[in-house]
Amino acid sequence: MAVLPITVYGDKILRENTKPVKNVDEVVIATIRDMFETMRNANGIGLAANQVGVDKSIFVVDLSPIEGLEDSDPVVMINPEIISESEELVIIEEGCLSLPLLRADVERPEAVEVKYIDTDENEKIIEADDWLARVIQHEYDHLIGKMIPDRVPSELKKKLKDQLINITRRNVDIDYPITDK
Ligand code: ZN
Repeated sequence: MAVLPITVYGDKILRENTKPVKNVDEVVIATIRDMFETMRNANGIGLAANQVGVDKSIFVVDLSPIEGLEDSDPVVMINPEIISESEELVIIEEGCLSLPLLRADVERPEAVEVKYIDTDENEKIIEADDWLARVIQHEYDHLIGKMIPDRVPSELKKKLKDQLINITRRNVDIDYPITDK
């Protein structure tokens, strides 16, 4: 297992559609282990494969650092697809390991239904709400090349501009490894 450098805003791979996984082979399993280690090292609760430079449709979630959710099991979603969304929208402040130190209120559906395959190649469909729905939507966005600034009103995006430039320049003080410029 290894802690990998996390890609940050400005890295091209974060803006591309990831590729579907054909077989959950040893390489994929090793990637997933590294993703969990990298995410936990950075105190994250979700991480997409392109955040560690891997062009595959995979994300991992572990909500156990959140107060009250200590008993949650880690989740791996391979080739996820959001198949329905609630009409109810909620605003929650989000952060992102690829946008170090940036926080922004993002409005998204409160609940989603998602189809994916698990590490045993079983197809699953789950309904998620609350924190799980939020993290799934954020990570799914990564897999289609979208990030927080794409999901906020243009007024707010303008306010984030200087911070985004600093991130692109690696002008941020953080204690986890990120990619070189
Ligand atoms: Zn993110």
